Amino acid sequence: MAAIYTNAAQTSPAQRMQRAIEKQDWQGIFSRATQLRSLINGSDAVHHINSRTIAYTNVCTIGCSFCSFYRSPTQRSAYVMNVEEAVNFAIQAVQQGAVRIVIQGGVNPECSLAYYTEMIEAITQALPDIQIDAFSPREIYGMARHHGSTIESILQKLYAAGLRGVTGSGNELSPDQISTGWRDWSHVMQVAQQMHYRTSATLVWGFGESWQQRLQRMDELQEMHTHALAKGEPGFAFLMLWPVQQHNRMATYNEIAQVIAVARNMFPTLPHIAAPYLPDSALAQVAIAAGADLLVH
Ligand code: SF4
Repeated sequence: MAAIYTNAAQTSPAQRMQRAIEKQDWQGIFSRATQLRSLINGSDAVHHINSRTIAYTNVCTIGCSFCSFYRSPTQRSAYVMNVEEAVNFAIQAVQQGAVRIVIQGGVNPECSLAYYTEMIEAITQALPDIQIDAFSPREIYGMARHHGSTIESILQKLYAAGLRGVTGSGNELSPDQISTGWRDWSHVMQVAQQMHYRTSATLVWGFGESWQQRLQRMDELQEMHTHALAKGEPGFAFLMLWPVQQHNRMATYNEIAQVIAVARNMFPTLPHIAAPYLPDSALAQVAIAAGADLLVH
């Protein structure tokens, strides 16, 4: 990969990228991104994953300022699916073409550990050939806190129930999550990778953060991935770049393309960069042209 960069000695990838952004060298950034995609995958092939999410509960006690999904336990629209409902949802999703089931909800202290493990057991037994990725680091952290357990113990119990993949969400660049959120997220992910769970990373951006903050987080993620690979662990399977929608403002296509191209440059050993899922084929084209090679539907 080093051949793509020239005069690279003594500077980190984040410093080089910061300099390229300051110089507005977008042509060079996009060009290197598409070169890297071809080099890493051996082709310009784009992969598709038909994925469905079971939002098993919308109750969450974290209350992130940007989240419109969660409800407090006392709100009338608060719900928790029972295990049978979750299994039926998963079976129906697979019948409709899903090859991956994501199980993800809020941090709900009322859900027992037995509820989580029974749900995983029931879904993995009903759908043994389907990839199941469940629970974000924040949910796993919440399970440990609310049930007086450790991250290691929670992940061991979920593994014993049949889970092999955790989800990568909860990694936002929002002002209230930028430090403590990252600390908890990276801790859970490191433990999961040590246990050889399948992991991915979703980086949610667009909170008004600077390019420097984005590059720092990308640098930290790449470092985690590199260390995991060096220890014989699987590392991240893919990175998803997700623009937050706040106050009805969504990132422009150009901003989305720039973030994807920068990320492809910053992760020279990561197999896949995923486009954000929006029911928008024009956006998919923009993302692919910027260096993405994975579309998660
Ligand atoms: S932890 Fe997740 S579900 Fe809970 S408020 Fe934050 S983003 Fe929403």
